[in-house]
Amino acid sequence: MKKIFKIIFYLIALSAVVFLFRAPLTQVLLSLQNKYLPCSHPITYSVGSFDERFGISKEKFLSIANTAKETWEKSIDKQLFTYAPNGDGELKINLIYDIRQEASQKLKNIGITVSDSKASYNDLKSRYNTMQADYLKLKTEFESRVTAFQNRQNAYAKEVVYFNANGGASETDFNRLNKEKNYLDTEFIEINKLQAGLNSEVDNINALVVVLNRLVSSLNLEVKKFNTIGSDLGGEFEEGTYKESSAGREIDIFQFDNEGKLARVLTHEFGHALGLEHLENPKAVMYRLNNGVNEKLMIDDILALKKRCGLSAL
Ligand SMILES: [Zn+2]
Repeated sequence: MKKIFKIIFYLIALSAVVFLFRAPLTQVLLSLQNKYLPCSHPITYSVGSFDERFGISKEKFLSIANTAKETWEKSIDKQLFTYAPNGDGELKINLIYDIRQEASQKLKNIGITVSDSKASYNDLKSRYNTMQADYLKLKTEFESRVTAFQNRQNAYAKEVVYFNANGGASETDFNRLNKEKNYLDTEFIEINKLQAGLNSEVDNINALVVVLNRLVSSLNLEVKKFNTIGSDLGGEFEEGTYKESSAGREIDIFQFDNEGKLARVLTHEFGHALGLEHLENPKAVMYRLNNGVNEKLMIDDILALKKRCGLSAL
């Protein structure tokens, strides 16, 4: 009798553990299934964080995600992904707005359009050289104006101290000092304006640098990366990433210039979610650089998926 109680107690304890850890357990089971039985069940996906600053509606985003996942599905005539509208999909897609997208939009705002081509890169590079030269010229002017201002301000302060210590200034000196003070006040405002102008020039140059470095990566150019002014934006440019951890599976999207590029990066990251690695063919969606403008699969992509899903190559 005692033994039965013991067994019941252990069963209750076990079910309590299973109940408490049911969410992580589901995650573990799904990731095991994905690892050992790839393509056996459609991967459910939802939108995680969604930043409105990309200027794309959630409906449009979902419709492009749908096109991207269907690209893979059509190639082997099998459902591989299912959208989970209630947000509990095992794969979360996040739209993360940072310097990468901000830089592209900043350039658009000052009338610079960018495309993934060597011509666009050369155009941006010559703009960069011009802007950099203008900036350095302005900066030198600014610095000498600041030095002149500081010298005059120091001289003014000295005189004020002198006259205060010596029983006050004559009317002529008082008027002269007053005029000098007005000049210094106006000059201070002008210098602040110049500073604001310089700062916005720095922002524009830095945006250009971010986009130039993206082109260096995506065009695979053998050139040194450009440096930004005054800040380190670091890291290699990536339009998106796929990551898998005990916390779950996530696709992060950081940058796209148009819907074609978004479709391309989503298709690439969905490919990683299916377990595909990078391919050597520069035209393939699964090439390490996202240098294409559409989500069209190459034969290498399809063969890699077939191999992954255990389907024959024909
Ligand atoms: Zn990749």
